[in-house]
Amino acid sequence: MTEEGTGSGSGEEPAAGPTLPTPPAPTLIPSTEPTYTHEGDRHRLGYVTDAFVLSDKDTGQTERFALSDEGWRQAWGAFATKEPAAARGVAAVYRGAPTDRGRTSGLAVGPDGWVTATQPRRDGVRAEDWEPGRCQVCGRTPAGPFTFRSNVGMLLARRTYSTRASLCRDCARGSFRAHQYRNLTQGWWGLISLFMTVSYLVSNVGQIRGAGRLAEPSPVVDEDVEKKLRGRPLAARPVAWLTVAGVVALVGWLVLNQTGATAPGGALNPTLQSMDLTSADSGLPSRDTVEVSAGYSGGAYVVTMKTGDSAEVLDRVSSTRTVSSVRVEVSAAKATAGSPEGLMGVRCVSDHDSNKAYEFLIDSDSSTFLIVRSEGENRQVLRRGTNAISIRSDNAVNVVTGSCDGSASVVVLTMSVNDAQVATARDPGGYHTFQGMGLFAGTKDGGTTWRFTKLSMRRL
Ligand SMILES: [Zn+2]
Repeated sequence: MTEEGTGSGSGEEPAAGPTLPTPPAPTLIPSTEPTYTHEGDRHRLGYVTDAFVLSDKDTGQTERFALSDEGWRQAWGAFATKEPAAARGVAAVYRGAPTDRGRTSGLAVGPDGWVTATQPRRDGVRAEDWEPGRCQVCGRTPAGPFTFRSNVGMLLARRTYSTRASLCRDCARGSFRAHQYRNLTQGWWGLISLFMTVSYLVSNVGQIRGAGRLAEPSPVVDEDVEKKLRGRPLAARPVAWLTVAGVVALVGWLVLNQTGATAPGGALNPTLQSMDLTSADSGLPSRDTVEVSAGYSGGAYVVTMKTGDSAEVLDRVSSTRTVSSVRVEVSAAKATAGSPEGLMGVRCVSDHDSNKAYEFLIDSDSSTFLIVRSEGENRQVLRRGTNAISIRSDNAVNVVTGSCDGSASVVVLTMSVNDAQVATARDPGGYHTFQGMGLFAGTKDGGTTWRFTKLSMRRL
């Protein structure tokens, strides 16, 4: 369709404002009375047996135009100049007018030349004013009521379009395709938009089924005109399907990354804000050896030290991804009051294989805290102290938090116990990247059982 139909009655001077294409001429149904197909506040556009006519409802004056394609273009141009709101409304019926949430205003001309009003429409042709059974776009019969909706997602905002109109079989298909194309290409972009788009796609399909029950519109029009009214098949518009494929790939990628972060052995997602590994066997290793048993039981990750003077580290790391700063936190308690003393806490793991990590440990019997740098078999204490106020004694639950910030040249380590900061340390030449997190459990002079709950890791 061309966009030349904006001329005034003479067909020479362009109308002011946005380009408004000429809609298809009405199909001429023989009648002795004038038939009006488009109506504005003051003017009506239609035809009589030998001319297109534009009449002024107030004065009764009538302009006549030749009963030809050129004559229709001129007649429409004259109508559009005098009744711009109504003219826009006709185009909006087909492609749908935005109904809410719009941010912009004015008109947009689609690739096929139909105009989409980008303002909530309160003018032009309204479905309830239209003669039932007659198509609001082409004027043919029979027609039925249709509602099509589409969504444009703009990440945080969205705009919806709707067509509520009496349409013939061909125009219903055209409107359906215009809305589905908009849904498929522009609908997805936003969380709410994603769901709304799916819902609109489905409801539009439900609507178009009604078109099959309508008889062929009468009178029959040229194949060219029919094609134009029906719009381009979606199958012939690769952009729509490429967009869908892209969205599917993107959603799939996001889903895989989310599950990968919590699946055993899966990749650690650096953008993941936190994880709770206490509810299921979802990451920390289970083991049962002479020295230690570890595994999930009763909503906790339970580590039993079977012999005295032993320590165990249990890491959860990614083999492929690292972050420069990480905060690891655990709630833990000894299972039995009065059981032998020992250290427990969390680790920021820089390299699991060579045991490069920072450890944040407490001994609840002596109210001791430690910040330790470990490498292989060696452990270097960076800070040591006591804090009887923050560290709860014996088998009370303690929340131990260690933050490791390797983003600057000097690594900064911060330790909190029960939400109170107890120590900081700086480690020049320390570890700058982290693979994940770990637990530390130790005992002295006998065995003990630690119950770790609410283990989490965040990026700083
Ligand atoms: Zn129609």
